[in-house]
Amino acid sequence: MPKFVYQLMEVLYTALEVRNLTARLKNEAGRLGFVPTMGALHEGHLELVRQAKSENSVVVCSIFVNPAQFNNPEDLERYPRTLEKDSELLRSVGCDILFVPSVMEMYPSPLDLRIDFGMLETVMEGAFRPGHFNGVGIVVAKLFNIVQPDRAYFGQKDLQQTAIIKSLIRNLSYPVELRICPTVREPDGLAMSSRNVRLTPEERKLAPEIYRILTECKMSLQKNTPVKQAIEDALAEFARLPAFRTEYLELADTATLTPADTLRAEGNNALCVAVRLGKVRLIDNLVF
Ligand code: AMP
Repeated sequence: MPKFVYQLMEVLYTALEVRNLTARLKNEAGRLGFVPTMGALHEGHLELVRQAKSENSVVVCSIFVNPAQFNNPEDLERYPRTLEKDSELLRSVGCDILFVPSVMEMYPSPLDLRIDFGMLETVMEGAFRPGHFNGVGIVVAKLFNIVQPDRAYFGQKDLQQTAIIKSLIRNLSYPVELRICPTVREPDGLAMSSRNVRLTPEERKLAPEIYRILTECKMSLQKNTPVKQAIEDALAEFARLPAFRTEYLELADTATLTPADTLRAEGNNALCVAVRLGKVRLIDNLVF
């Protein structure tokens, strides 16, 4: 009965309101699933909400463009914000509570805490976006404290972020089960991302090359091409397309996300890439 669900979604703006409501609902209704986002929602986000909905009695989604995780002020400023459409989409998939805090609500005083995620800070996204994971760790810790979820839903699209959340949960003893959901792609293979709307029509046409080159590289690795050679070939493919600037393309061990110079056992290999296409930075990965 989608209409019934539609009317039920509560939109809350303060941590206190969320804390009070989720505490009551957890007591009365059972398990609570949580989907943190930065908005500009697409099918990838909606799949997380659908999965949360199928596994919990109550689903909370947050929309907060977290300044603490942007190392580039221009990227923060240009991040798409589509709250009205987002609320409609969340209602349509049965989200129960939407939390939309302001920056003041989340950071009433200047942030003077740092979380160092060790090795994860030094590779791939950690290396190219200094301070990014500190900001992610802090906002997710704050959101966990406010929402108090039983399960939290994150996308494999941001593979290294899922490792950060794992570390946060383990090291800070959060009673939260991490659920990682597969990457949702456009029909042409491009991983859905809120940033895709910022691509020009020409860039959008080229963007599926990311998935194509990754897939080709994966197949080459599976045919036992040495890792160094397979990565060099893929980098050369990107270099042939002047619109792309590759930041990194690495085979990583899924357990540590550190570079792997040989293929690991099935399921333990992550081929990860970050490119700039025009002014837009895009990431993708394949786990195999
Ligand atoms: P964001 O709003 O980009 O911070 O993303 C919020 C959550 O949605 C994160 O857990 C992302 O990994 C996840 N997500 C983003 N894009 C996708 C996608 N294409 N498929 C699956 N999950 C995604």
